[in-house]
Amino acid sequence: RAKSQGRSRLQFWEAGMQAPYSERMQIEVDLRRALARNEFVLFYQPQVDTVTGEVRGFEALLRWWHPQRGLLTPADFIPVAEECGVIVPIGDWVLRQAAEQMAEWRRAGLPPVRLSVNISARQLESADFVDSVMRAVQVYSLDGNLLELEITETLLMRDFEANAIKLGRLSVAGIRLAIDDFGTGYSSFKYLSRFPIHTLKIDQSFVQELDREENMSIVNAMIAMGRGMNLNVVAEGVETEAQRALLQQMQCHEVQGYYYSPPVSSHEATALLGRHARGFEQHDQRVAG
Ligand code: C2E
Ligand code: MG
Ligand code: MG
Ligand code: MG
Repeated sequence: RAKSQGRSRLQFWEAGMQAPYSERMQIEVDLRRALARNEFVLFYQPQVDTVTGEVRGFEALLRWWHPQRGLLTPADFIPVAEECGVIVPIGDWVLRQAAEQMAEWRRAGLPPVRLSVNISARQLESADFVDSVMRAVQVYSLDGNLLELEITETLLMRDFEANAIKLGRLSVAGIRLAIDDFGTGYSSFKYLSRFPIHTLKIDQSFVQELDREENMSIVNAMIAMGRGMNLNVVAEGVETEAQRALLQQMQCHEVQGYYYSPPVSSHEATALLGRHARGFEQHDQRVAG
């Protein structure tokens, strides 16, 4: 198969169309081979304290070093992986890789930071989910408090009772739960009191249009609610100093976004943690410099 055909196949999928069965089979084969050949890699994006500038945690974001197509982001392959079920072993790999990274930072004597991992639908629904998370924690003797699972509200609500049991079990082991893309799913707040939630992640769509007054009110309300429930509130997609300053003013605990750093390699994340664990430079100095 020519490279160009491979590329158009992905674009075909990105357009949200239904690929023929034979093509889905081929992508499934590619994904399984990618696991066996170690072509997946985690990138890490820091979550920074709005008051002190300290790095509080990282989000692990999956990438695929495709031998022909180069570095692929989740939008290129997660929907396919989800559909054919390969997301389950991939998700298990992500958990183990994240756990190994945390163990490496601990061995290097770096300050303890949270690591957040995104969980997909098929993964959460799999019977092995709780054991898969527990194994990753136990193999590396991790502090469960430092591992956070990012799950969207829509996904949580899909199988309310089963998810409450699974996440309750993980919560007993100290493992944390973050609501990803908060504000973009179902509007029911029922789940907020039923699940052992630790963090609310305000979706980047609200942050990117923070200059519109209605978004300002919504974000303000989300932060107030999160704080009122004693949750850690993180804003995603923060790209500018104006956004950061507004979010700090609104007492959002942490920000994540290109303003501080894009997702970076393990090597760069380790260096960044070494440099900035005790805080990015004061913002006014950055601007003045
Ligand atoms: P997400 O969990 O909401 O992750 C945030 C996305 O926003 C990431 O895209 C990140 O690179 C991007 N981002 C970060 N800062 C900025 C910013 O300042 N501006 C803008 N415009 N974007 C920013 P990415 O890495 O392409 O991941 C997309 C989605 O793929 C994630 O959304 C998550 O739902 C999913 N994903 C990523 N890694 C995994 C994984 O290991 N497993 C599963 N199941 N899903 C994953
Ligand atoms: Mg996420
Ligand atoms: Mg998100
Ligand atoms: Mg998202």
